[in-house]
Amino acid sequence: MLSVVIPSFNEEPNIQNTAKVISGVLDESGIDFEIIFSDDGSGDGTWNEITVAHDADPRVCGIRFSRNFGKESAIWAGLEAARGDCAVVIDCDLQHPPKVIPEMYRLWQNGAEVVEGKKSSRGKESGIYKAFSNLFYKLIASASGIDMANTSDFKLLDRKVIDAILSMSERTTFFRALSGWVGFHSESITYDVEERAFGEKKWTPKMLIKYAVKNLMAFTSVPLYLSGVLGGIISAISAVLFILKCCGVGLGSFGGSEILLLLTGGLILICLSIIGRYLAQIYEEIKHRPKYIISDTIKSHGGQND
Ligand code: UDP
Ligand code: MG
Repeated sequence: MLSVVIPSFNEEPNIQNTAKVISGVLDESGIDFEIIFSDDGSGDGTWNEITVAHDADPRVCGIRFSRNFGKESAIWAGLEAARGDCAVVIDCDLQHPPKVIPEMYRLWQNGAEVVEGKKSSRGKESGIYKAFSNLFYKLIASASGIDMANTSDFKLLDRKVIDAILSMSERTTFFRALSGWVGFHSESITYDVEERAFGEKKWTPKMLIKYAVKNLMAFTSVPLYLSGVLGGIISAISAVLFILKCCGVGLGSFGGSEILLLLTGGLILICLSIIGRYLAQIYEEIKHRPKYIISDTIKSHGGQND
């Protein structure tokens, strides 16, 4: 059986359509499935729509969080609830085209353990967004060796891979990178990002920046070393300037000492903030709080595992 995990936050207008489109595609391809909506603490009628979808098709089920815990937690909870031999993670707004799921499933049947959905085009994203996400993935790739260019959360995972990911005890998870980090035989398919079916995008620029910083730090400690490198560079510059001054080389109206003082002060603050953020992240981890809290569940009926 294939489990379809759908993180959903304030997706009231999408639920019925998404359930119908996905089940239509899978029924047509003769794939046995369950659909798990992970309601990430929506404030609209998302949960009600999930119950209606379940009444119409018992293969649809849901988990409801007590509040918004973020997409990563929603994916995690969906994978924990998944009973399938493999699972596909897909956005609720159908920007990840469901029509390619049967192709992913065939690749899995032919031995692939991870099938990555790679964006062939990024849809309607602004120039700043594209530049920002390229920089983010380049940083992750150089720090972890995992090439994540054009990857997304749209992927199919074998049961072995799901169990390997779920066995990780860290609290701050980055699904997109973890599914590459665990290894296994991976293949990819490309897809065009579709327009959002209904409703508005849920990510604000502030949420995206927080998400990028948090995941970069969860995945690499390079910024900590970087602060040392920056310190080294600035010390070398000040040493050179000091020697030049001692040798009587005129620096014109350049107030060397003042500027250097400001520069080093700034760098020390940057380094302190990097260390501070890591400390904060360690603090979050050692609290061992759950990734999410469930307030309601609807179990699916159907599928060969019943
Ligand atoms: N989402 C979520 N929790 C959040 C924010 C978003 O579960 O806190 C879900 C959302 O419902 C959607 C997916 O994550 O299914 C992608 O969100 P969105 O379409 O807003 O962003 P995009 O990836 O298209 O920029
Ligand atoms: Mg979207």
